[in-house]
Amino acid sequence: MIPYGRQDISEDDIAAVVAVLQSDFLTQGPAVPAFEDAICQVAGAAYGVAVNSATSALHIACMALDLGPGDRLWTVPNTFVASANVGLYCGATVDFVDIDADTYNMSPAALAEKLAAAERDGTLPKVLVPVHFAGQSADMAAIGALARQYGVRVIEDASHAIGATYRNRPVGDCAHSDIAVFSFHPVKIITTAEGGLATTNDAGLAEKMRLARSHGVTREAHLMQADPAPGGWYYEQVSLGYNYRMTEMQAALGLSQLTRLQDFIARRHTLARRYDALLADLPVTLPAQSPDSHSALHLYPVQVDRRDAVFPALRAAGIGVNVHYIPVHTQPFWQVRGFKWGDFPVAEQYYRRAISIPLYSGLTEADQDRVVAALGAAVG
Ligand SMILES: *Cc1c(COP(=O)(O)O)cnc(C)c1O
Repeated sequence: MIPYGRQDISEDDIAAVVAVLQSDFLTQGPAVPAFEDAICQVAGAAYGVAVNSATSALHIACMALDLGPGDRLWTVPNTFVASANVGLYCGATVDFVDIDADTYNMSPAALAEKLAAAERDGTLPKVLVPVHFAGQSADMAAIGALARQYGVRVIEDASHAIGATYRNRPVGDCAHSDIAVFSFHPVKIITTAEGGLATTNDAGLAEKMRLARSHGVTREAHLMQADPAPGGWYYEQVSLGYNYRMTEMQAALGLSQLTRLQDFIARRHTLARRYDALLADLPVTLPAQSPDSHSALHLYPVQVDRRDAVFPALRAAGIGVNVHYIPVHTQPFWQVRGFKWGDFPVAEQYYRRAISIPLYSGLTEADQDRVVAALGAAVG
């Protein structure tokens, strides 16, 4: 089976992990801060907080923005469930903004309309979570301007988009947001097995996220009530936090992977352009690339008629296709929380025709030819 996505692990990656295993620190050593610095370089942000998943990163981001009971978080239906779940972790309520029919990202028009209605009703959200679907940035200038206008904080779910750019600036520089979050799950652009990281330019938010990552415990003198004792053993718990720490092995793997980030993205672009050409004459809608954005190309989602027949035909042909995403609001868990089919028609219409075909740096042209042949047969 050709998978839809797959990690790319080199001998150097393996050696980097082994070196950590032979070192003094398996956790809370030098690799995590080095990884945070390296991601900040790539993303153009001042502060980075590495954690054990992007889900954890989204959670500590919401905590840093003081999202709590009585507050609202809005995200898109076309995402993984984690983007919405983190609102509930904080006791907030969650709602959705429909996507744009061309980019499959949050629609600024739908957002403008929903914010205006929420202002009339007194139900404005505290936090907005746009998702950079498939590695292509959402229209952050428009979304950021609306968020500022209504006093809403923004967390970019950039799980798909490490190494992408928006208007020639790196995704993650938080030019139009408070915090951005990356995932390093094996199907994403670079991997740490499990892992995530939040970037911000706000020192206060970074400090709150560091506390939330590690039990709310600090050794920073300026955060403590008492004078720290000599010798450095003293610490204080100043808030409620979790153990969301990334290990040293994960950070070392991430640092090693990062040296090939641009190669991975270039390879994904080469393969995507080849798909564009090979699929041009088939009755499928190819993913549009916005001129504002250089995508990290996490996914190559096509739209087909008769998706429910095409999908099993591809699987039967050994092509590990997938669907990104089942609209979150249609999940049973969210249906009993007041949502129903029909609430976000653009995301639903997109979903009904969606298939993600394989795209990853190790995909060969021969693999791709097999995918194209199988897709051609299935839609023909
Ligand atoms: C993968 C993903 C997440 C969750 O990432 P983890 O690192 O697995 O927790 C969140 N949002 C989106 C859009 C994702 O694709």
